[in-house]
Amino acid sequence: MPRTDLHPSTVAAQALGWTDAATGAVVLPIQPATTFIRDPDNEYRRGRSYGRADNPGYDQPEALLTALESGAASLLFPSGMAAATTLFRALPLGAHVVAPQLMYHALRRWLAAQAAAGYLAVDFADAASLDALRQAVVPGRSRLVWIETPANPPWPITDIAGAAEIAHAAGAVLAVDNTVATPMLTRPLALGADLVMHSATKYLNGHSDVIAGSLTAARDDEFWQRLVAGRASGGAILGNLEAYLLLRGMRTLPLRVERACRSAQRVAEAMAAHPRVLQVLYPGLPTHPGHAVARRQMAGGFGGMLSIRVKGGEAAAIAAASRVELWKRATSLGGVESLIEHRASVEGAGTPVPPDLLRLSVGIEDADDLIGDLSAALGK
Ligand code: PLP
Repeated sequence: MPRTDLHPSTVAAQALGWTDAATGAVVLPIQPATTFIRDPDNEYRRGRSYGRADNPGYDQPEALLTALESGAASLLFPSGMAAATTLFRALPLGAHVVAPQLMYHALRRWLAAQAAAGYLAVDFADAASLDALRQAVVPGRSRLVWIETPANPPWPITDIAGAAEIAHAAGAVLAVDNTVATPMLTRPLALGADLVMHSATKYLNGHSDVIAGSLTAARDDEFWQRLVAGRASGGAILGNLEAYLLLRGMRTLPLRVERACRSAQRVAEAMAAHPRVLQVLYPGLPTHPGHAVARRQMAGGFGGMLSIRVKGGEAAAIAAASRVELWKRATSLGGVESLIEHRASVEGAGTPVPPDLLRLSVGIEDADDLIGDLSAALGK
């Protein structure tokens, strides 16, 4: 059993303190085997038979994530989308699901397609409003409420404890996409959520070199076992090298998130004073509609993600992004390098994102360098 009296930065840095029993190595070796020896009496007493279901390379990163999220169990997946879709696919055919109007766009599209095909019944609600969530759930019929907080890309905040109460009162479970907050800032399970999902591609790995996802459960119950079986039989499994790299990235998660939060706050404040900026969307600013709830449920910072709306509309926003030298023009988030993107171009037709919006993922570079580069790119 991992110690429960240690701070998350200690738990992460030591990756639970696991060492290799055979060699004493402070890092566990990558185990590439796809199959395991059966005992002479036809049993598998060591508990593993085949790599799709029983990958030893997942044990430490899953245990670490479980500890950081204060959960009961975790599962790694080959992408955040694989984690999320495995969860939705474990629901009964036609199950009613409530999801946010503002959320990661590819998952919103996937849910809409599931609804169109009749696999799920999906209602999209304004998840920043508990009243809207309450109206969207159907007691006795809703099976899952999905939220993302802070959510792409204006970073609205959902009150997790309030959403959990609403979901449970309707007989549904609450699942939280915790990619942006990370367990360093918010632990949804401690606030009443049932499941947490990550695009581990982002902050958990942190180096823009692994696509991965995860689910963590508050309880190892019958639904969780359906997800365990869903990964093993569905076959959406992460590679061993990726699992190793993800674990290595997670060991520095506290440092990276702390730095990103501090710098994002400074970038947000600098952009709020910039003459070419129409609006700054960052939960750390008192002007943000989710600021009060974020203060309550995010400890230690408001995350490394913000968006700015540029005066002059779409063309001015794209032009500013074209002039940065330090920020990298790329999609994704949560890496050590800062990224800038014209979000509407990524999301395409039908996006709710304003055309003048630039999404910023603040990395761990010097904040003055980032502010100087972005300010110059925006112009006078
Ligand atoms: N959730 C959020 C908040 C994301 O930003 C992303 C990816 O950008 C995903 C889920 C999907 O994760 P992946 O790209 O690892 O499949």
